[in-house]
Amino acid sequence: MSELSFKKHDILSEGDLDDAVHEVQLHALGKGMIPIAGIISRLLPGGRHEILGFGHNELADGVPGVHGETGAVKGMGRIQGGYADLIATSSLSPCPFCQCTLARHLGIKTVRILDDLNYRPDRSDYQKAGITPIVRSHQKIEQTFAKWVNDSRHETLWKRDIGISSGPTSAPRRFTTEELAVLMDRADRLAREGLAQGEIPIGALIVDDLGQVVGASSARIVATNDPSSVAAMAAWRAAGSRDDWGRHTLVLTHGPDPIAYSMFKVFGFGQLIVGSNRIYEGSTDEVRRLDRPVVVMDRGPQCDDLLKGWLRENSAERAQEYLGTAWR
Ligand SMILES: [Zn+2]
Repeated sequence: MSELSFKKHDILSEGDLDDAVHEVQLHALGKGMIPIAGIISRLLPGGRHEILGFGHNELADGVPGVHGETGAVKGMGRIQGGYADLIATSSLSPCPFCQCTLARHLGIKTVRILDDLNYRPDRSDYQKAGITPIVRSHQKIEQTFAKWVNDSRHETLWKRDIGISSGPTSAPRRFTTEELAVLMDRADRLAREGLAQGEIPIGALIVDDLGQVVGASSARIVATNDPSSVAAMAAWRAAGSRDDWGRHTLVLTHGPDPIAYSMFKVFGFGQLIVGSNRIYEGSTDEVRRLDRPVVVMDRGPQCDDLLKGWLRENSAERAQEYLGTAWR
């Protein structure tokens, strides 16, 4: 985004920050992307903002799980000392996926929203998610998005982006015990590869209803300097864009973190398979409450000891990078 009029660590007034979000929104549009953009900043004494990261929706590039807000998180990279005091400014009201990423995973508490026209969710939900929403109407941002979203040529892409399947979807696969063992062996190998590369030992697979693995990854937060790249998200992004996540299963060596949970809540993933819940259970019960099949395997101490050892050797702050702020 070299042609933008600002760069990381520039210090802008709040009005200029909002115009900068519009600039990123137009930049996305110019690249054929959905015009939703975000900037993450730190509020300085005197009310000006230091720009820490910016980005936009990437679905038109075939990358699921990167909304405007997540694009800004990717652009920001990891920050020592945590994210609690940062401010996320978004061109559109953050959806529950982005709320989970910003608030429950990173711990960002303040979200500024620059569109009061196109998407007006129940904003008390933001408070339930631990977010204070501040809504300001930026007319150029509202007009840019309204024009895009009301154009019927964009309907399929938009539905995919917000997790609405445009066709019939089949049920996720009912795996045999043997199939489950093979899948979890593979996820476990990914966990170990991640560990060797300085990540938490958690592996993830996305498997379709035919039993084919369409995405696989360890966590990639260190490797890509992207705080949103937990194992489930990295595997999902590797799977590419589809609109039928209901026939897909997310396989995880350990319970789903808040970002992985939102893949069920927002994008309708069909089934969860977890290797072990003894060390980290995460949002397993929340996925059950969404009425999705959940299989918790008992992979024994080999799988547990790996994560236990990592947690013993790493700080709570490091663990929260992968498991969300609820991790003590
Ligand atoms: Zn979103």
